[in-house]
Amino acid sequence: MSGSRVRFAPSPTGSLHLGNARTALFNWVVARASGGAFVLRIEDTDTEREQEGSEEGILRDLSWLGLAWDEGPGAGGSDGPYRQSERLDGYAAAAGRLLESKAAFRCFCAGEAGESGRAAGHRDPCRALTEAESASRAAAGQPSAVRFRVPARAPGGGAVVRFADRIHGEVAVPLAQIPDAVLVRRDLRPTYNFAVVVDDVAMRIDLVLRGDDHLSNTPLQVLLYAALGERPPEFGHLPMVLGPDGERLSKRHGATSVSAWRERGVPGEALVNALALIGWAPAHDRTIVSLDDVVHEFDLSRVSRSAGIFDPVKLEWISAQHIHAMPLPRIAREVGEALVRSGRLEPAALGTAAAWVASVAEFLRPALSHFDQVPALVEPVFHPGGALGDDERKILADPPARTVVEALAAAVANGVADWPAIKAGVQGATGAKGKALFQPIRIAITGRAHGRELDGIVPLVALGHGRLPGAVPSLPERVARTLAEIE
Ligand code: GLU
Repeated sequence: MSGSRVRFAPSPTGSLHLGNARTALFNWVVARASGGAFVLRIEDTDTEREQEGSEEGILRDLSWLGLAWDEGPGAGGSDGPYRQSERLDGYAAAAGRLLESKAAFRCFCAGEAGESGRAAGHRDPCRALTEAESASRAAAGQPSAVRFRVPARAPGGGAVVRFADRIHGEVAVPLAQIPDAVLVRRDLRPTYNFAVVVDDVAMRIDLVLRGDDHLSNTPLQVLLYAALGERPPEFGHLPMVLGPDGERLSKRHGATSVSAWRERGVPGEALVNALALIGWAPAHDRTIVSLDDVVHEFDLSRVSRSAGIFDPVKLEWISAQHIHAMPLPRIAREVGEALVRSGRLEPAALGTAAAWVASVAEFLRPALSHFDQVPALVEPVFHPGGALGDDERKILADPPARTVVEALAAAVANGVADWPAIKAGVQGATGAKGKALFQPIRIAITGRAHGRELDGIVPLVALGHGRLPGAVPSLPERVARTLAEIE
């Protein structure tokens, strides 16, 4: 059997939301697992709701998640053809065929009613117009929409439209509940339901996998396939995504867009992992999965039909696991990007700072659940020395603490930057141990009484001096400033 042709069809009305990203992911996985194709179609006929830059953002988000598309804008380096705004002729031709076969009729009703869908089951008055009357009104220049004529019998007979949904099972909807919907508006723009069917036929889509907010559109679409003389594809409607409190996922739950998580420095594979677990679970209820694992194990019949939960706390945890398992060069790259994003490093400085950034990556790896934690964690490296707060000043006012700082000054003189040697030197000279040893040293070097282990911080300070742009004072400079302040 040949692979599934599936599609992801976002409207460029904002940034890629996590719910839509999960739809894209499941489609991509089905295409890869079956050796089929993942088609990307931008549904940009609703010009009023369109947002500048949204298409670019969606393409960038999909690429970042690793969900490359085989056909669509920019696929394979081309500036692909799948934007609905570039396919208007196809919708017009299909509407012409439906008018001709009387599966559709012209509707001359003015205003809202002529533009939008009629209430469920409403049979539009214009469906009764004779062909001659309709033609003469059109010839007289009266504007009209093209409206679907819901047939008296459903495909296969009877008064009920049926289709099998891969997730919801058999769905049956009486014809009486399906409206004579507008297919092409008076301004010639196609409606969503019409364009989507014409395109899914043209693109030979055999499985439509989308959010279950479209489940209610599907009976009408099934009728449109029949009216066009086409077999409908298979359908699968994915349950919606809720926040941990069971409410529809919204801003209240924190970041709900792919780009917001990227900007926070969560790795793409961690977000993919978290999205995959919304309504689906790998064998043995594992929590950490790669995109490859999902491709190998995904099974549409195991997608839950009840709503799935997105939990940001769980994403942070998943993200930490991915970061801990990452090769160091990749962590170093992400650390560098986070420092650039925060304004701590200029992009041009990344080259000279490379050795330092690599050490930061190694030191911080166990502490990270996303990369935007990095700037705060390396802040002590950029401390000027001295500039003590009241608490720090009080601690160093104690004579033994002060002795430690003086011994430290001696140990780092002559540019000694080897932390084990410094530590041993100060300990040997003062006999101080534990907190009595480390707290004064920490204050003298970072200006703060608390922070991450000195075993990591001191080498980062020593290595940063001279390799980082801006003032990263040397160890002797810091200690000297501290001593000057507590004279
Ligand atoms: N443009 C529609 C949306 O973003 C696509 C629906 C579909 O996949 O049919 O909701």
